[in-house]
Amino acid sequence: MTHPLWNPGLDTRPWALTQQLQLAEFGRLLDRLAANEAWAARLPAGRTYAHLDDLLDVPFTLKEDLRAAQADITPARPLGAFQNAPTRDLVQVTSSSGTTGAQTFFGLTRTDWGRWKDRIGNAYRTAGVGPGDVVALTTGMAIVAGGLPYADGIREAGGVLAWIGGQTTPRMAFGMQRLAVNVLVSTASFATHFADRTTDELGVPAPSLSVRTVIAGGEPGAGVPHIRQGMLDAWGATRVSEFMGLADVLPAMWAECEVGNGMHFTAAPDVLVELIDPDTLAHVPWEPGATGEAVYTTLSREASAVVRFRSRDQLLVTGVSCPCGRTAPTMRCVGRTDDMLIYKAMNVYPSAIREVVLDVASPVLSGTMRIRKSSAAQVRFDDDIPLEVELRDGVTAAEASAVLREAAESVREKLRVRVAVEPVGFGVIPVSDYKNALVYVP
Ligand SMILES: [Zn+2]
Repeated sequence: MTHPLWNPGLDTRPWALTQQLQLAEFGRLLDRLAANEAWAARLPAGRTYAHLDDLLDVPFTLKEDLRAAQADITPARPLGAFQNAPTRDLVQVTSSSGTTGAQTFFGLTRTDWGRWKDRIGNAYRTAGVGPGDVVALTTGMAIVAGGLPYADGIREAGGVLAWIGGQTTPRMAFGMQRLAVNVLVSTASFATHFADRTTDELGVPAPSLSVRTVIAGGEPGAGVPHIRQGMLDAWGATRVSEFMGLADVLPAMWAECEVGNGMHFTAAPDVLVELIDPDTLAHVPWEPGATGEAVYTTLSREASAVVRFRSRDQLLVTGVSCPCGRTAPTMRCVGRTDDMLIYKAMNVYPSAIREVVLDVASPVLSGTMRIRKSSAAQVRFDDDIPLEVELRDGVTAAEASAVLREAAESVREKLRVRVAVEPVGFGVIPVSDYKNALVYVP
């Protein structure tokens, strides 16, 4: 079922007009931040911004800047040098997942919290949630972006929040059945894993339950056709909506509508998004087929702002005029700049390797795979890149060997890199309920 647009006025406003209004807001944000010593030392104030390129000489905020500012704390300012509202005005703290280093923390004032709920509500509405939907949230941790903020957004969108995460799998499976859950919110890898476990626990196939929409976020992958089909089959679902946000900026900023051609930007009134070329740092226009790194500015956030925050997420624009009526561009996240590997001078994203491998070998693979690095810092590979791939339940390495050779050959042809494919048994690669990495160090 398709629910009405969240805010028809905003959702259908021309994207160029949205960007224009955001530029005016950007100048006001910098003037507000000038009252904070740490921000004042970094940013210009008293300027107006009329064109996107007027932003080009405003310094980026990097993850390292956030970590450094957060290490500089005082009793009055527990969130560090960038904290921009007194602690007595804060109502909540959230954090990043900490999968790529020390956790970073972010505060919300009551006004921030209200705006967040509205924006995240819009993302859930875009992804297919509305009144009457029973929505299972599988995240176990409350403090991360996929915890309390998602819970708020699901309720805000009109859904019935069934927060089953954080319990044992038998209890989660029981809840799925007893509550007739029809929308599952999960990472892509956990969604298929959880379907298998649910089938085992309940003794009935997961597709016989009520799940018809799977909202998949937390990691790229739900846009890859074979991974998407795997999720649909695992639950007997009719719709997969990909979902994406960033703890540092706003936990849900992109969500896929019923058309299924990528994720719309759903945070427009509160977050300015720029698309840049990560090498030249020039702006990339929002045109179908364009790729670039997303850079975010929180225009309204009072407690913990970020200005031109480099996400390291590499986006591919998939459209600018969606039949659903929403005017914000749609995209797929094709990888993280940080994850980029170099094989004999060729750049390659682990997610691109996964896509090519699954194109060929999905009949024998579970979809879970990972690249083995010799150290966390390893980026270069001079020998074949070691790739562990998990076999489907019941498939042996001998049965899979011919098609896996074909997959490695396809990677060589399409991406100009060589992988050493190593099949492992079903269940060998651990699957977490939050953020699964495509690279690992044993
Ligand atoms: Zn759409």
